[in-house]
Amino acid sequence: MHEMGIAQSILDIAVEAARSHQAARVTGVKVRIGQITGVDPEALAFGFTALSAGTIAQGASLTIETVPASGCCRECRHEFSFTVQRFFCPECGSAGIEILSGRELQVEHVEVD
Ligand SMILES: [Zn+2]
Repeated sequence: MHEMGIAQSILDIAVEAARSHQAARVTGVKVRIGQITGVDPEALAFGFTALSAGTIAQGASLTIETVPASGCCRECRHEFSFTVQRFFCPECGSAGIEILSGRELQVEHVEVD
């Protein structure tokens, strides 16, 4: 399960952030996840809750912001958004697509106490 590994990384970052601020616990974590990363937010939240049990991040809220996928055509510079991975421009049909967003996988903010 792909999400468990990601949840572990998020947890590690959060715990490390709390330590570097000499905080006693992690109260909240906000992550940004691109729509075409293939990460299931529900599975990720479940993994985070399970892995954080017994750590200083136990009970921390995990806020997941989904970043919509968007691309730009290299031929006609048309910009478009999509919900599933597609590799051609809806305007000119070119396969030369530059992905602008949707691949994010980052911890944006860690709240500590
Ligand atoms: Zn195009």
